[in-house]
Amino acid sequence: MRLALTAITDELRRLKASGVTGVAVSDEGLAALRKSLGGRPAPAAPSVPSAPPPRTRAQAPASAPAPTAPAPQIPVPVVVLPKGDKAARWAALKQMVLEDPVCKAKVRPGKKIVLGVGSLDAQIMFVGEAPGAEEEVQGEPFVGPAGQLLNKMIGGMALTRAEVYIGNIMNWRPDMPAGTDGEQTGNRPPTEAEMAHCMPYLLAQIDIVSPALLVALGATAAKGLLGPKAFGALGEVRGRWHDFGGRPLMVTYHPSYILRNPVNSKKRLIWEDLLKVMERANLPVTDKQRSFFL
Ligand code: URA
Repeated sequence: MRLALTAITDELRRLKASGVTGVAVSDEGLAALRKSLGGRPAPAAPSVPSAPPPRTRAQAPASAPAPTAPAPQIPVPVVVLPKGDKAARWAALKQMVLEDPVCKAKVRPGKKIVLGVGSLDAQIMFVGEAPGAEEEVQGEPFVGPAGQLLNKMIGGMALTRAEVYIGNIMNWRPDMPAGTDGEQTGNRPPTEAEMAHCMPYLLAQIDIVSPALLVALGATAAKGLLGPKAFGALGEVRGRWHDFGGRPLMVTYHPSYILRNPVNSKKRLIWEDLLKVMERANLPVTDKQRSFFL
């Protein structure tokens, strides 16, 4: 058994080095592992994601001095889902996230924990960064200004929001000091430890929905999925296909970037990325769609 465990850990290391950030383990596999470690048998079909510890560029610029104190540790959850259809597994995941003590402690008073939304049979899954002001009020991803633009992008692909799945790296809005009215105004990228805590929940959503392909919106989503060291500037990976555990992954700009830079040259780049996504998903592309920004 020791040899088998060594072989498994070697293989997991190899997968991690090649960019894979999560693996699914069958009932039988988990039961065997638990038995070998002297634990109790597995209760249900599990997803056992590894949690990469991504670091955002904003958090750690290349020139940043070495931190004087270690970053606070946050436990990483192990997601074990019950057997059942997608709806049952998703509902169990949602309950798990809503009851997660770290999520409950991190979400600000009166605000909501946020899980992904959309079709559990979606072919295309968009992944964003973290809830913002509107999202933490409504408990739904991408419902603020960036969400309105994302809806337009999805509409441009001749799809509806209900036909795709939209998730985030984070399940809560990363906190910033509140203003005098007690409300938080700005947003910050999540820390390495915050992302590591939420990644298993995103990986479980990918596992449940099993989309044909993924679209990472912006650098934080791309680092969460490709790994913290996968690139320096977003331009290095944007507009190209990557592999995420066997699924094609397109990296494109975050809609917020377009809101901050509302020029046709940038809109055209994000649209070109989405045309590639449509083609890869075998969606029809009309001449009008193809020449939209020409
Ligand atoms: N930006 C994101 O990345 N996600 C949201 O849900 C909203 C804004």
